[in-house]
Amino acid sequence: MEKSKIVSFWKEIEQAKRIAIGGHIRPDGDCVGSCMGLYHYIREQFPEKQVQVYLGEFPDSFRLLEGVEQFIKPVKQQMEEAEEGQAWDLFVALDSSNLERLEFAPVFQKAVRTVCIDHHITNEGYAMMNLVFTSSSTAEAIYDVIQGRNEKGEERPVSKAAAEALYMGIVHDTGVFKHSCTTRHTMEVAGALMERGVDTSRMIDDTFYRKSYVQNQILGQALLNSVLWEQGSVISTAVFATDFEKYHAGKTDLDGIVDQLRITRGVEVAVFAYETEEDSFKFSMRSNSKVDVSTIAMQFGGGGHVRAAGCTISGTYEKGLQQLLEEIRKQL
Ligand code: AMP
Ligand code: MN
Ligand code: MN
Repeated sequence: MEKSKIVSFWKEIEQAKRIAIGGHIRPDGDCVGSCMGLYHYIREQFPEKQVQVYLGEFPDSFRLLEGVEQFIKPVKQQMEEAEEGQAWDLFVALDSSNLERLEFAPVFQKAVRTVCIDHHITNEGYAMMNLVFTSSSTAEAIYDVIQGRNEKGEERPVSKAAAEALYMGIVHDTGVFKHSCTTRHTMEVAGALMERGVDTSRMIDDTFYRKSYVQNQILGQALLNSVLWEQGSVISTAVFATDFEKYHAGKTDLDGIVDQLRITRGVEVAVFAYETEEDSFKFSMRSNSKVDVSTIAMQFGGGGHVRAAGCTISGTYEKGLQQLLEEIRKQL
């Protein structure tokens, strides 16, 4: 990332009195972590500014982040309040590759100035200023943006609250430092965050590995229903509306299912889907070493990374799955 872009970003922050920060729909750990990390840093460095974070419904385990509770509100209510209220001077969109995926797109569009900070290769550059990093996570990118504020190159320490949020973001997008997006720099950033006093074991266990009974049940059901294709190199499964009802589960209870599929011996591509509304499915794809799932997801209006991507396909699950399998086969 060019230094001048980071400097321009901080100029935007300095000029704005009222700043909104928001992420993508169905917020994951990186989305919530990067939003809260940037929130804390701006609040601490510019106490005179009004800063608000817009987040959709996210897993309960992320509530352990300091200050996040104040932003938990039904999306509809947040949207109405923003519609009635004054436009934000600046909206910083994080971890969202396009406007369709940005949860509060109308609020973003109403803002006077807009910036996007992201790490998706499929980023469409939809903001007035776009900082697209090749980092493991948006949280890692935010750490670099903060460090980039210092022209002398000395470390700019972040508070424990900011460090915890950023650490959580990195942990989630790297699958606890194991995905191929994890670099030496990722580990160095994580190391610097550790030094701020983050309880790393607690962050990893309580936000990543710990599952509720309901989450375990729906994971178990999804694994029981999984099917192998292409001599075991592809695995697929789905969670339907009836499963959500049966287990009293919601879409925030599905984290980790696709990753469990991916580590099945012999599997190159894992496909996981869940019903978002009648005859519409959100597909998640993960690959291990060969298949570029981001190009496949893009063909269906989605996006993501080479090894992790997603898209929403309308029609039955079987039909959507077959369409994806056809594209996966071409790359196997
Ligand atoms: P998921 O399968 O939802 O965990 O997403 C995997 C990766 O692909 C994440 O980095 C997402 O941000 C990205 N992604 C998922 N769905 C979409 C979509 N519909 N459009 C663009 N990117 C997506
Ligand atoms: Mn994300
Ligand atoms: Mn991310």
